[in-house]
Amino acid sequence: MVTASGDVRIPEQLGDDSNLIAGRWTKARSGARFPVVSPVTGAVLAEVPECAAVDVDEAVAAAKAAWPAYRSMHVFKRAELVLRVAELIRKQAETIAEVMAVEQGKPYTTEALPELLETALNFQLAAEDVVRMETPIIPMRDPAKRVLTFREPYGVMAVITPWNFPTVIPSEYLGPGLAVGNCVVMKPASATPLSMILTAHCIQQALDEFGVPPGVFNLLTGPGAVVGDYLVAHPDVALVGFTGETVTGEVICSRAGIKQTLMELGGNGPQIVCADANLEEAAKAAATGCFMNAGQVCCATERILVDRKVHDEFVKLIVGEAGSWVLGDPLDPATTMGPLNNEPTAVKTERHLADARAKGAQILLGGARQSGRPTDLYFPATVIDGVTRDMLLNTEETFGPVAPVITFDTDDEAVEIANGTGYGLQMSVFTSSIRHCFWYADRLRTGNVVFNDTTDYWEAHEPFGGGGGTKSGHGRLGGRYTLDDVTHLKTVAIDIEKTL
Ligand code: NDP
Repeated sequence: MVTASGDVRIPEQLGDDSNLIAGRWTKARSGARFPVVSPVTGAVLAEVPECAAVDVDEAVAAAKAAWPAYRSMHVFKRAELVLRVAELIRKQAETIAEVMAVEQGKPYTTEALPELLETALNFQLAAEDVVRMETPIIPMRDPAKRVLTFREPYGVMAVITPWNFPTVIPSEYLGPGLAVGNCVVMKPASATPLSMILTAHCIQQALDEFGVPPGVFNLLTGPGAVVGDYLVAHPDVALVGFTGETVTGEVICSRAGIKQTLMELGGNGPQIVCADANLEEAAKAAATGCFMNAGQVCCATERILVDRKVHDEFVKLIVGEAGSWVLGDPLDPATTMGPLNNEPTAVKTERHLADARAKGAQILLGGARQSGRPTDLYFPATVIDGVTRDMLLNTEETFGPVAPVITFDTDDEAVEIANGTGYGLQMSVFTSSIRHCFWYADRLRTGNVVFNDTTDYWEAHEPFGGGGGTKSGHGRLGGRYTLDDVTHLKTVAIDIEKTL
């Protein structure tokens, strides 16, 4: 195990022939490729195929051709296959995690390696859950009828994923999608395709071992606006799973038309700190929520709403906590936060901070990129106080390592601020009162709410996703709940009087 990103060896599978179509590793038809640049060192890690519509056509055709045989494979056999994927990922976890740390920027020990283990777990959970996917038998008024229901795969499933969790987010779709019998064409984010390509080698190895037809799983790299756009609109794609920004999700839904979609979109998670909270715990959790993966998490703590009665004490504590986060090379065991992944995220973070300062907020820690680093993407843990509702830090998702403190006077006001931005992915509340917990649980408009832990808390098997009517999407990723979203219900009515 190396301790500096510059020493990471890039496996030879990562090159201009690292697309997977019909079971073969290939180049883009045009031969075009694009570089993947490390945010940690600035080095080009590899050049991968830059696909276009023609490559998508081939991949979708391969998936379509493989589907009849794959969907007929016995469910227990498919479960074994998906479990084998989990096993192969676990074997490769350290190698893939090193590549992830250097291409994404997240610390190896505390984030990249745990992400690979969770990636494997998502395949394992899907394998375990799919064999227990029961469906109702429905009593009928007509005594001659027996009505059964079955969950069926859609066919070709498109999966498009972001750069903040390069393997775990894909696995949330691929485990359940493959377990129920869909064939997949996926497109990873252009900033971080490498760790997913290595994971795809594990998937293909398992498919080969089980002798399934080529094309059950296909992977294409290339620009979202070209490859992703063509893929989601493709007439032979029946189901689209997408994680990414809300604006991209809106474009995809308009392009996908009446296809089934699973949309996991942006968040603007508040952590609410009530006057009766354990403030030390609240500050620790807020720091995790704001600085894990340098704030580039869909359920990051984007805003900290603090009761005015405990504001001064809480601010002292959060500044202390933030000061303990160590910015540096993700391969250095001392590092707890790596650089931002990309320039647009750094620019957005700066824009939100500049807007807040111009409107009167005060930076208490950090606030600007650090110079003298190998790239310009090293942004330290930042705390900013006096944030108000009109500031971009409140209204938009920042996605950087920023802890913005907003003060409230009543619980009603806290709920109004929390719900006021239209996002509703995951929120958290710190309070010592169970009555308070349920009061907030009833009023917060969100898919997930956590009490007395960070907004970044989740476990792989819990249902996770946007709250109804919010900008954070629809459908559920996590455990058995995803199985419903990647299948459709078929009802079969049998007249037993007329059946031999
Ligand atoms: P983007 O929406 O920019 O990109 C996500 C993926 O979509 C990438 O693979 C991208 O390709 C592709 N894409 C871009 N444009 C199109 C298009 N027109 N048609 C089809 N595909 C397209 O998101 P980010 O990568 O910036 O990810 C961060 C966002 O993801 C944040 O908003 C975050 O909150 C959200 N997210 C949500 C989660 C949830 O569970 N709700 C979990 C994690 C993140 P390319 O890379 O080539 O541009």
